[in-house]
Amino acid sequence: MDLTIANHNSKDKISWATSNAKIATITKISNTKYRVTGKKAGTATITVKVGKKALKCKITVKAPEASLSKTNATIKVNQSVDLTIANHNGKDKISWATSNAKIATITKISNTKYRVTGKKAGTATITVKVGNKTLKCAVKVQSVPKHTHDYTYVKYVNATCTEGEYDLYKCNICGATKKEKSTYSKPIGHTYAREYDKTPYIVTKNPTDTVKGKAVAECADCHKKVEKEITIKDLYTYVFRDGGVNITEFNGKYYNYDTNIYCGGDIIIPNKIEGWNVKSVGGFSNSPITSVVIPNGVTDINRSAFEGCTNLTNITIPNSVTEIGGFAFEGCTNLTNITIPNSVTEIRDDAFSGCTSLTNITIPNSVTEIGWSAFSGCTSLTNITIPNGVTDINGSAFSGCTGLTSIYIPSSVEGFGDGIFDNCPKLTVYGKAGSEAEKYAKASRLKFVAK
Ligand SMILES: [Zn+2]
Ligand SMILES: [Zn+2]
Repeated sequence: MDLTIANHNSKDKISWATSNAKIATITKISNTKYRVTGKKAGTATITVKVGKKALKCKITVKAPEASLSKTNATIKVNQSVDLTIANHNGKDKISWATSNAKIATITKISNTKYRVTGKKAGTATITVKVGNKTLKCAVKVQSVPKHTHDYTYVKYVNATCTEGEYDLYKCNICGATKKEKSTYSKPIGHTYAREYDKTPYIVTKNPTDTVKGKAVAECADCHKKVEKEITIKDLYTYVFRDGGVNITEFNGKYYNYDTNIYCGGDIIIPNKIEGWNVKSVGGFSNSPITSVVIPNGVTDINRSAFEGCTNLTNITIPNSVTEIGGFAFEGCTNLTNITIPNSVTEIRDDAFSGCTSLTNITIPNSVTEIGWSAFSGCTSLTNITIPNGVTDINGSAFSGCTGLTSIYIPSSVEGFGDGIFDNCPKLTVYGKAGSEAEKYAKASRLKFVAK
C-alpha cells in the first residue's frame, strides 16, 4: 500500500522510516509518497518526519492464507491430478478427504500434496482442512468410452522389500497401468541389522533379570523400522565362576542367524544375571556399541573386553573394578575421556593403546603398575600425572604418544621398562631431583625438569 503526505508546504524536510524492516519495508515513489510492503506477519510503525512534525502510520501485516492449487478439476477415469496447499504456515494441522472414494481417490505425496485419481464417472469434492480453514476442490470424473486397452511398455521396475520385479505398461487410451511379473518375480524381503550394512539394532531398553529389553532396527533398503524384545540371553553369553557371573561374550557383536541380532547402542550391563552378581565383563570387542555402563560389583574388565569398539564414546567404570585387563580398550578410537576409579590397582598391557581420541585420563592413587604399552599410540594425550602409588611403569607404556608434552613421575616409581617414551618428540619429564625418574629421563635423552 502507498502512503502520501498531504499539505506539504514544500519547504519542510521529509524523512521516512520503518520501525521493523523484517515486517514492513518502505520504497520511495516520490519525496511525499512511499510504498509499504508487508514481509511477514506482525506490526510495524512507519514514521514520517515533516520538519519538526512526526507523523505515524501503524501497519499490521497478516500472514498469507493457505490456499489450494485448484478449486475445480476435470479428469478421466484412471487419470490423476495433483493438489497442493500453498502458504501453509507449517503449524496448522492438515487433513485431506474425498466425498466419494468410488469416484475419486486421494493418495498422499506429502503432507501438503495429494494425488487425486478418477475411478468412475461422476463428481466428488476433495476437502482439505488447514487449521480452522476449509478448502475445497470440485472434481469431475469423465468416463472413457469402452475400449480394449492399448498397452505400451513404460519401464522395468526393480524388486523391492515388499514387491517382486515387474514390467510396467500403460494404456494409450485411458492411462490404466498393468504390471507384468515373471514367475521368478519375488519380493526381496526386509533386511534388518545385517553386519555388512552397518545397520545394527539399537538397544532402546536394556534387559534385566526381571524386565525384557527392546531394540529397534531399520530396514537397510526401505528404512521401515522394527522393534524386537530382547532378553539377557539374547545379548550375553556368560558362565558362573567363583560364585558370580562372568560375561564372556556380547552376542550383538556379530550378526547371529539364530537370534537375528546384530546390535549396538547404549548398553547398560545388568548387575545380576539369574540372581547372581556379575563380577567380570568381556567379549564386546569390535561391536557397534556407543556407550557402556559397567555395573557396581564388577571387579574385572577382561582381556580385550572392548577392543576395537570404534563407536564407543562413553564408558562408566564403577569403583569396584580392580583390574583393567590387557587390550581392554585397545583401538577405541572415539573414546575421548575415561575416569579410572580409585579401586583399580593394575592397568594391564595395551589396555588403552591406540585410543587416538583420548585427551584426558586420570590415573588414580590406587594403581601400582602400568602395563606394557598400556597407553601407546594415544596421540591426543597431552599431560599425564603418574600418582604416588605407582611403583612400576612397563616398557613402551607411553610410546608413540606424539602429542604428549608433559608427564610427572613421582619418586615412588622405581621400575622402568624399555622405551616407555619412544616417539614422544614433545615430551618433558617432571620429577624430583635425583629420583629414578630423572635417571631414566636422562638415559633416554629426554628433557627433565626437577619439580
Ligand atoms: Zn485403456
Ligand atoms: Zn525393507
